[in-house]
Amino acid sequence: MSNPSLLILPGDGIGPEVMAEVRRVIDWFGDKRGLKFDVSEDLVGGCAYDAHGTPLTDETMAKAQEADAVLLGAVGGPKYDVLDFSVKPERGLLRLRKEMDLYANLRPAQCFDALADFSSLKKDVVAGLDIVIVRELTSGIYFGEPRGIIEEGNERVGINTQRYTESEIDRVARSAFELAMRRNKKLCSMEKANVMESGILWREVVTEVGKEYPEVELSHMYADAGAMQLCRWPKQFDVIVTDNLFGDLLSDAAAMLTGSLGMLPSASLGAPMTNGRPKALYEPVHGSAPDIAGQGKANPIACILSFAMALRYSFDKGDEATRLEQAIEKVLADGYRTADLLGEEGKQPVSTSEMGTAILEALDAGL
Ligand code: NAD
Repeated sequence: MSNPSLLILPGDGIGPEVMAEVRRVIDWFGDKRGLKFDVSEDLVGGCAYDAHGTPLTDETMAKAQEADAVLLGAVGGPKYDVLDFSVKPERGLLRLRKEMDLYANLRPAQCFDALADFSSLKKDVVAGLDIVIVRELTSGIYFGEPRGIIEEGNERVGINTQRYTESEIDRVARSAFELAMRRNKKLCSMEKANVMESGILWREVVTEVGKEYPEVELSHMYADAGAMQLCRWPKQFDVIVTDNLFGDLLSDAAAMLTGSLGMLPSASLGAPMTNGRPKALYEPVHGSAPDIAGQGKANPIACILSFAMALRYSFDKGDEATRLEQAIEKVLADGYRTADLLGEEGKQPVSTSEMGTAILEALDAGL
């Protein structure tokens, strides 16, 4: 049987730097754990524009559609700010998400104990936090029609429409229930059923899907109350499922509970392919960080944790994902810090590749 395929798109700025460390981790799993991938690498974003005049070629798009998983670094940079909207680096990423129909965006908020002091919340509120927000990514108010700015009487009116079909809610709810089944079998759905019809339908459909997952403890919360609870006592949650707009806000807020952008992975999942694996794109939450690009300062952990998510959700290797997360936990506990994790301590930071090396050594130590 052939190895599972992995398409790697390092992108721009710090993307190639952090991805180089991921490549070392992938090689480690091949050499030491017999987990071989057919890895291919291609261009996306500004570098693709430089080479081909487009942020994503049709050929790369086709490769992404066929890959068992896609791993992306980051796109963008000041050099490309002057480009026409249609060829901006971000368009490459948006095209991937749209054409792969990646409707479930998984954003974990996980607090490594060694970094608990980094949070803006008290240590006991965040230490050991491990939750995942599932955000619907391809519908809702960001896409609903009618939209626009129209003239009405003697003033202008801005219009956006929150619109969800039952099937759109159903499929993202299923992703969230499946995730809850792999975790602690606890799911909280958030909407505003008190003031929005789309929220009423959301609650009904999620409840209906929930009947197929009797082991999962399902609860519902209004999204504004959910935001408060996330700040007050986030550990009450395990998996949260919510729509595009609320998910955008709640996942950013939850992410900041854990400290640095350099630590945050994400996954965007779509419908199962013929081999049963979901269409999947894994990427760190951060951007291309032009302010530190090319200086060996970037924290590679968000991108490495994104690969851990790929191991878990695309390749059914949860144990190996945990092995990788534990290696990262150990490295942080041992005091390794890239510059973004140092705060005011005034210690000497490690470089991107030194952090990668430390993680490989911790993986070796865990064998
Ligand atoms: P950014 O995430 O690139 O950087 C924000 C801040 O966080 C910067 O100070 C940066 O140095 C720091 N930072 C980010 N990742 C880090 C890491 N791994 N290690 C250490 N520090 C890190 O966001 P921005 O500055 O708003 O955007 C820069 C460019 O990235 C823009 O062109 C933007 O459009 C693009 N962008 C791309 C993505 C993506 O590819 N998914 C996401 C957000 C922004």
